[in-house]
Amino acid sequence: MRLFHEHEQVTICHDEASGLRAIIAVHDTTLGPGLGGIRMWSYTSDEAALNDVLRLSEGMTYKNSLAGLDLGGGKTVVVGDPRLDKTPQKFRALGRFIDRLGGAYLAAEDVGTTTDDAEQVASQTRHVTGLPVDKGGSGDPSPMTAWGVVCGIRAALSEAGIGEGFEGVHVAVQGAGHVGADVARHLLAAGARVSVADIYQDRIDPILALGAEQVPAESVHELECDVFSPCALGAVIGPETIDRLRCRVVAGAANNQLADDSMGDQLAGRGILYAPDFAINAGGVINIAEELRGPYDPALAKKSVERIEQTLRNVFERARRDAVAPHRAALQMARERIAAARRQ
Ligand code: NAD
Repeated sequence: MRLFHEHEQVTICHDEASGLRAIIAVHDTTLGPGLGGIRMWSYTSDEAALNDVLRLSEGMTYKNSLAGLDLGGGKTVVVGDPRLDKTPQKFRALGRFIDRLGGAYLAAEDVGTTTDDAEQVASQTRHVTGLPVDKGGSGDPSPMTAWGVVCGIRAALSEAGIGEGFEGVHVAVQGAGHVGADVARHLLAAGARVSVADIYQDRIDPILALGAEQVPAESVHELECDVFSPCALGAVIGPETIDRLRCRVVAGAANNQLADDSMGDQLAGRGILYAPDFAINAGGVINIAEELRGPYDPALAKKSVERIEQTLRNVFERARRDAVAPHRAALQMARERIAAARRQ
């Protein structure tokens, strides 16, 4: 495993009393405190947990930079099954470890954690965001993430020459969870044709009632459509799926959609426009930045999230200019902003 990815600080946390085992990684604080969620997952090994936190915290640096936020990148992983191993004591212990970092790391919720867990953390440190709305926080980030994805799809449709609006555009949404269901709702309201897939029927039914069509979860990526919108899992664009895509655009919320960077190059080679995941799914972090600025105003936050459309237009333009795939252009832009801040 490659250990040194230019992380500033990695902290291994163990609390005997609560049984907490966690790793906090602060990747880069050039632009501001390292913002990133707390992920709880039943990792198969300590190495897997370390690998995940190093990779995810680095990704947060680029996501926050490209979104124009004065925030760096960080992440926490808590080792354990979120359905079985969660206790308030563990999250309070984690809060004390986060507090010791003195603000270099700014926590939020992520896969396996909720605003309730964030509240436990907040009882021990002020370096946590995404608290419930009734506690002055910005609450669940998913609606803002979904709105950002819709804005990003608009930019991608324009770049791909499909048109300037959603009327009659066919979008296949993979995953009707917190984000995917909202993306589908917005698109249907804007006149798009939406096909939707999920492994749970009860997630799909409300979307079908609004006029979407159901497609099997195993083959949603093979559907002939304008836009394939991955809103479920990572690594959906891999060697087994890439040749089966029959869309003109890939644009969705899921993190780490490309199994590796070469997949992004292959998409470009096949004439499929890819909206880099860390650019299009930044609505949640933009929302948190609004909470930090305070007092939190959802209407202002929504306006800020709409910047994602212009960010993607800039990414596509840069990709054309440099004759590279959009994910490479986006990464370059994120790195350039950090390098410029270092020089100041
Ligand atoms: P979620 O768990 O609410 O929804 C995911 C949905 O995908 C679930 O309904 C699940 O049943 C479905 N699913 C799982 N496997 C599937 C498969 N093989 N085929 C079809 N559907 C499948 O999660 P979410 O909060 O909606 O997040 C979705 C994605 O967006 C994740 O990758 C997440 O990391 C990313 N993301 C979310 C946010 C946010 O604000 N929630 C922000 C940035 C990125």
